[in-house]
Amino acid sequence: MNNLIIGSHVSFASSTQLLGSVEEALKYNANTFMFYTGSTQSTQRGTISDELTYKAFDLMLKNGINSDNVIVHAPYIINFANRVDEDKYKFYINFFAEELNRVKSLGMNKIVLHPGSAVNCSREDAIDNIAHALNLVFDMTEDVVVLLEFMAGKGNEVGKSIDELNSIIKLINKQDRIGVCIDTCHMNDAGVDISKFDEFLDEFDSIIGIHKIKCVHLNDSLNERESHKDRHANIGYGTIGFDNLINVAYNKRLEGIPFILETPYINRNTKDERAPYREEIEMIRNKKFIDFIQ
Ligand code: FE
Ligand code: FE
Ligand code: ZN
Repeated sequence: MNNLIIGSHVSFASSTQLLGSVEEALKYNANTFMFYTGSTQSTQRGTISDELTYKAFDLMLKNGINSDNVIVHAPYIINFANRVDEDKYKFYINFFAEELNRVKSLGMNKIVLHPGSAVNCSREDAIDNIAHALNLVFDMTEDVVVLLEFMAGKGNEVGKSIDELNSIIKLINKQDRIGVCIDTCHMNDAGVDISKFDEFLDEFDSIIGIHKIKCVHLNDSLNERESHKDRHANIGYGTIGFDNLINVAYNKRLEGIPFILETPYINRNTKDERAPYREEIEMIRNKKFIDFIQ
């Protein structure tokens, strides 16, 4: 056994909330996990049950899951990049501030955010708009750290390079509230060669600083490098490949950081549909590929 901190995306059902998320993570033998507080595509959110949260923390404690390693992911529909519709921009700022409060009341301290999509505005304006929104949110809330996700550059997505992420980060007033979540599928699709991961880390360190990387989404990719597609593949079944992903997971410079799988379910849309995470976590812990998908 090694000290790798690894888990996957898990569900957060309205009836079981965080307790259900922890139970699901334990089924995969994970020692961390990531969840959305509700739908990925809407801002509809229920009230948090403190009772379920306490029970969840009890179970986490018994199983050695540290809440510092647990990640929340913001819904995809938040877009701080354009302010063509000022009411909408303000709505998302208020929603995201509320979301950070929900993260805090769930006992968590990190949330991943897709920076946004520069529709009907220049990339320069998009970067200003994102940073402005985040500065307002940070003034309205406490403690929770926002991790900007490295994006594939699909459409007009902002955050598809170290430089673009850096140009947002350097406009943030409260530096202790901002970090980065890298995603190996997104990086590959944005043009990064994952087989030269150390060169990427060198560049990241010289521009942003490696301490800002607080989470890694570990995914294989269905598409070729620089395809700007963003379609995740199971570990070892994509264009990045098992060995390259193992080298990311075991990179000394990322030791102690949570690794989160967001790989697709097996046998999708059939009665045998199921999560691949127990097998993938086992393969990564053993550094040995098993062809478990027929
Ligand atoms: Fe994401
Ligand atoms: Fe991701
Ligand atoms: Zn993705």
